[in-house]
Amino acid sequence: MTIPAVGLGTWQGLGIRNKHQDVRDSIIYALRAGYRLIDTAQSYGVEPAVGEAVRESGIPRSEITVVTKFPSEWHHDPLHALQISLDALGLDYIDIFLMHWPSAADGDEWNLLPITASPTFVETWKLMEKCVGSRCKAIGVSNFTQKLLDEVLAVATIVPVVNQVELHAFNPNLKLVPYCHEKGIRVISWSTLGGGGEHTPKANEILAHPLFKRIAANHGCSTGGLALSWAVQREICVIPKSSSLSRIEENIHLVTLTQAEMEEINEAHTTIARIRLADHISTLAGERDGEQTIKGWTKQEFGWEDADGNWLT
Ligand code: NDP
Repeated sequence: MTIPAVGLGTWQGLGIRNKHQDVRDSIIYALRAGYRLIDTAQSYGVEPAVGEAVRESGIPRSEITVVTKFPSEWHHDPLHALQISLDALGLDYIDIFLMHWPSAADGDEWNLLPITASPTFVETWKLMEKCVGSRCKAIGVSNFTQKLLDEVLAVATIVPVVNQVELHAFNPNLKLVPYCHEKGIRVISWSTLGGGGEHTPKANEILAHPLFKRIAANHGCSTGGLALSWAVQREICVIPKSSSLSRIEENIHLVTLTQAEMEEINEAHTTIARIRLADHISTLAGERDGEQTIKGWTKQEFGWEDADGNWLT
């Protein structure tokens, strides 16, 4: 299976809904500008607009890679979740179907279960393997660390084709990426541009810091183009979201960086700032026994940090 290096993200921001026409039009614009990968999820509420755009773009369906994700409440029944996405998209098949987060929920999306409770993410993966066929070409995961992937790979018949994770200059995942590549798993970066500063204004430095401006100037590109080029040069797919037609066009044009420039950006998490956006997303935050949780689990349970708070990824 091949996957385009650059795609269009479709998460519209916290609390934003009812943008059907705008989302549809921007996806059609992107497809006609050369994009061939669209990333969405059931929880973004835009699958109907994505499907409509894919159907009406005039681009053959076989040329387009549609990625969508099912939420925690369907971990016990991914086959049913697949049908929900197919119905919402109005498409005959999905190219890549992802487990959006490793944590399962009981009943509704926010009644999150502990890491050991059934269905575990490993049990869900085994159920997802049954999805692969004419209605779903491939399956993958999202927000998985090496710790979690090791458990999946120990029992998997099908290796996840992708792992979609938060990845940007302030959280470069320098260990996770080579691990995934060694296992044949393609990494897709979310919030490569810092998410537009939606979760923490500090993330805007990815587009504004003098270091990035200097390197971008060397190549006559914007800092946004630089951030995306850096990731793709590491063989990571990117899915920038934009509702601006000019930025949609801009984001698909990449530049080639020197090794020294790559290393400067690789080190930005030590020289400028280290930020895990997931720590700042209010809708993911929770607490258990006085300990902060993200989507129901602690950072140690995810495998993001050790007991002393050292980053592991
Ligand atoms: P991005 O890093 O793609 O940032 C999007 C923001 O950057 C928007 O505000 C956009 O504004 C702005 N922008 C886009 N292009 C440029 C540019 N060239 N220069 C300056 N600003 C720019 O953040 P997202 O959080 O949207 O991540 C991308 C995608 O990843 C999502 O849309 C979603 O599909 C996926 N995702 C997956 C998650 C997961 O758990 N698996 C979690 C979060 C996201 P404007 O629209 O005005 O251009």
